[in-house]
Amino acid sequence: MDKDDFENYNLNDEIKDALKDMGYISPTKVQKEVIPLALQRIDLIVRSNTGSGKTAAYGIPICHQIDWMINKAQVLVLTPTRELAIQVKEDFTNIGRYKRVKATALLGGQSFQGQQIELKQKTHIVVGTPGRVLDHIKKGTLSIDFINYLVIDEADEMLNMGFIDQVESIINKIKTDRVTMLFSATMPEQVRKLSLKYMFEPINIDVLEDVNNDITNNVQNNIEHIQYKTEEIDKLSLLLDLTVVENPDTCIIFCNTKEQVDKVYDCLKLEKYSCDKMHGGLEQRDRMLAIDKFKKGKFRYLIATNLVARGIDVEGVPLIINYDIFPDKEVYIHRTGRTARAGLSGKVISLITPYDERYLSFIEDYIGFKILNIEVPTKDEVLKSREAFDIKMKEKPTPKQSKAFKLNKQIMKLRINIGKKKGIRATTFVGIISNIEGVTAEDIGIITIMDTLSFIEILNGKGQIVLNAMKRTKIKDKAMAINVVF
Ligand code: AMP
Repeated sequence: MDKDDFENYNLNDEIKDALKDMGYISPTKVQKEVIPLALQRIDLIVRSNTGSGKTAAYGIPICHQIDWMINKAQVLVLTPTRELAIQVKEDFTNIGRYKRVKATALLGGQSFQGQQIELKQKTHIVVGTPGRVLDHIKKGTLSIDFINYLVIDEADEMLNMGFIDQVESIINKIKTDRVTMLFSATMPEQVRKLSLKYMFEPINIDVLEDVNNDITNNVQNNIEHIQYKTEEIDKLSLLLDLTVVENPDTCIIFCNTKEQVDKVYDCLKLEKYSCDKMHGGLEQRDRMLAIDKFKKGKFRYLIATNLVARGIDVEGVPLIINYDIFPDKEVYIHRTGRTARAGLSGKVISLITPYDERYLSFIEDYIGFKILNIEVPTKDEVLKSREAFDIKMKEKPTPKQSKAFKLNKQIMKLRINIGKKKGIRATTFVGIISNIEGVTAEDIGIITIMDTLSFIEILNGKGQIVLNAMKRTKIKDKAMAINVVF
C-alpha cells in the first residue's frame, strides 16, 4: 500500500479532513514510522530530528483513538516547558478539531482553580508540565483512571535530574496497561535504559536525516554553522555588527541566563530593534504573549533563554545566534532546531570566547564536524549593510499565519454571557443549535462552559446562521449577549 498519503491510513474522516485543511498532505518520515505502530498500541522510543513533525506523529494516531464519549482524560502528554505544553495542546486541538477533541493545558504560573474548572468539563487530552500535573493528580482534580496513552515529549530532558522525581511519580500513578511513547531529537543511551523501567517491550525508532545512524545526522544538513571568536567584553558590539550584516527577517538570540537576556534586550531596544524577550523570570502572561507575537511575526528578534530551545515551532526563522554557548552539547542541537524547520534552510552563529572553547570541542565531537570559524565583519562591511538594515528595521515584519488559520476559516467561535452558575451545560447549547434550520449537531465544535461565560465553536461555515438564530433565542427566559470571538 502506498503510504505517501494520509488518505491511505485507516484514520477517522474528521482527522483526515483536518489534516487536509492544515495542509498536511503526506506524512513525514517519522510519521510514517510512528503512526501505524502507535495505532497498534505499541510502546515507542522515538528519536527524530528537530522540526521533523514529531508532534503530529503522536498527535494523529492519538486523536484517532480518542473515544469522544468518555469525558475524562484518556491521554497525558508531559513537556518540559509551559510554552511547549501550550503549543502541543494547540496541535492536538487543530488535528482533532473536526472530531471535537478537547485538549487542556495544565501549567504552572496560571490559576489552579481555572484549570480545575476546565478539568470538570469534557477533557480528552491533558498536556502539561510535570509539577502542575502532579499537583492536580494529588488533589484529585485530574482523574487519571482512563489514561491509556502517556507521551513524554523531549524525553531526555524529562528523565533528567531536574524533572525525574516528578515524572516518575506521575508515571507510577498511571495504570500499567497504557501505551507509553518517548520522543526527542536527542536520546542518550542512559535515558533509553532508564525508560525501559516504564515501558513494555518498546520499539526504538530512529529517524535521522541520512540512512547511516551516526550522531552527525542529528543535525540537519540544511543548516550552515558558523562561529566567531570574541572576548566577553566585545560580544554586544559584535552582536550588533552581525545583525546588521546578516539582516535577517527574524532571529532568535539565545543567552544562558535571564540576566544576560535582559542585558542584550535592553541594548537592542536602545538601538531601536524590533525585539522582545523571553525567560523564566517573566510573568507567565508576558511569556505567552512574547511567544504568541513572535509566532505571528509581530517583531523580528526574540532574545531568550533555553526556555524556547526545545520544541517551540516558529515558522521561518532563518537565523539563530548563540550569544552564549551552552555547556550541554544536546542544547546546541535543540537551539539549532529552531531554524530550518519543515524543509527550509537556516544559519546558526555562535559567539565563542576563550572560556567557551572547552564546550565547543564537546559540541563539535557530538555533532561530528567542525563549526566554521569566520573573521568578524569589518567596519566597512557593517557600514555597507547599514542602510538595508535600517530600512528593514523600520518596515513592519511580514505577518505569519497560524497553523489553525485555514481550519479557522471554516470555524466561528461564539462567546455567550451565560455559564455554569445559571445551570448551563454543553447539552443545553447542543439542543438549541441542532434545532436551528440548516444546522446539525455535526456542525458544533468544541464547547467550553465557564462560570458566567460559554464559548462554542461552530464548524463548516455555519457560524453566521447560528449567530443570527441565537440572537433571537432566550435561555431560561433571558435573551443572551452573544458575539464572535476573533
Ligand atoms: P514538529 O517537529 O512537531 O515541531 O513539526 C515541525 C513542523 O512541521 C510544524 O510546523 C508542523 O506543523 C509541520 N508538520 C508536521 N507534520 C506535517 C506534515 N505531514 N505535512 C506538512 N507539515 C507538517
